Amino acid sequence: MNWLIKNGRILDPASGRDEVGDLLLRDGLIKETGKGLQAGRGVKVVDAADLIVAPGLIDMHCHLREPGLEYKETVASGCAAAVKGGITSVMCMANTDPVNDCAAVTAYILEKASQAGLARVYPIGSITKGMQGESLSEMAELAQSGCVAVSDDGQPVDSSGTMRRALEYSALFGLLVIDHAEDRSISGEGVMHEGFVSTMLGLEGIPATASLTEIGRDIALIREFGGRIHIAHVTTRSEVDLIRHAKADGLSITAETCPHFFTLDHEAVRGFDTNAKVNPPLRTADDVEGIIEGLMDGTIDVIATDHAPHHRDEKDREFDLAPFGISGFETALALTLSLVKKNGLDLMEAIGKWTVNPARIAGLPGGSLSIDAPADVILVDMEAKWTVDPASFLSKGKNTPFGGMTLKGEVVNTFVGGKMVYERGEGIIV
Ligand SMILES: [Zn+2]
Repeated sequence: MNWLIKNGRILDPASGRDEVGDLLLRDGLIKETGKGLQAGRGVKVVDAADLIVAPGLIDMHCHLREPGLEYKETVASGCAAAVKGGITSVMCMANTDPVNDCAAVTAYILEKASQAGLARVYPIGSITKGMQGESLSEMAELAQSGCVAVSDDGQPVDSSGTMRRALEYSALFGLLVIDHAEDRSISGEGVMHEGFVSTMLGLEGIPATASLTEIGRDIALIREFGGRIHIAHVTTRSEVDLIRHAKADGLSITAETCPHFFTLDHEAVRGFDTNAKVNPPLRTADDVEGIIEGLMDGTIDVIATDHAPHHRDEKDREFDLAPFGISGFETALALTLSLVKKNGLDLMEAIGKWTVNPARIAGLPGGSLSIDAPADVILVDMEAKWTVDPASFLSKGKNTPFGGMTLKGEVVNTFVGGKMVYERGEGIIV
């Protein structure tokens, strides 16, 4: 099936294009663009009047939970949630069971993704075998079997020497290192941001320094030994400052934050809502401001979900015992659009942090609407208001702190490789 998308507001951060026009998707690629295009034989027309037409979003950071933790999420349920959220490519972290540290696990994930036939899935291999923090994974094998990056995300690489070797070794295979920066000797048993709210609630805190010191260490490593690093889930103003300086010094460093970090602060934990328990934790209002400044001035290149679905029973426990994580695919775009409305982040810039930037950083196809690019395209109704209802999530993970919140901006259609895989009102199209 070929598609002609008519009269949409075409927004393509890769080229800076922002104009009303048509887009022809043929044989899985974007084939023509302009005004007044005619649908030839075998081409279906979609009316995109009053809608944004943008490249499908690329999510550099998510947890699909398969293999091993299918009760939380499967590749198929995760991909369904992703395309509903306008996300056409996902990079999934290695902390499955078994850990994705070898070709067999990578191949298994890719097989599940191809069976689902929804979003494109790019596995991330682990930095260390079994994420044990000791010997390095077989990165040549991981790269060959389809991994695009390495990360022990979920936990840090504690040993500086191991991280040094990982940076050097991964570079040989063109694998991006994604850094879950956390000094566990500081974060300890903490369950939320260490500050006045944690004191009031009597909960163990995670000081802001926990991520900062390890980012500082990793900047020192690339400064001396070279290599390229991407800092996952930046949460504080001081992290943004540190990364800004490293970039000014010309180091190969990029960074991401997540919608919850520019939307909520640690006050969201009052009432012991375990859906607001996330690692790194929600920080202070000033940190939220610092994150927004980092997004505005380009210090933070990417917005990613860190989609971390959990089973209801796991979150339905005392705060101390509940697992960390937020189910993020289905709210990410609307939360990004509210940042655009409230804080004046340029819409083009915001979409760029979801498309061309992650594509460039991770070396992925997609992320642009140029001719012969993969036909991964979304249509977005910027005016549609909707209320977050976790029960209606396609993700198995209903764990969101945004339940009941009214958001503006909704995905109308998602195309992956020229195939319509989601339509508002219809749901997933198989
Ligand atoms: Zn992480």
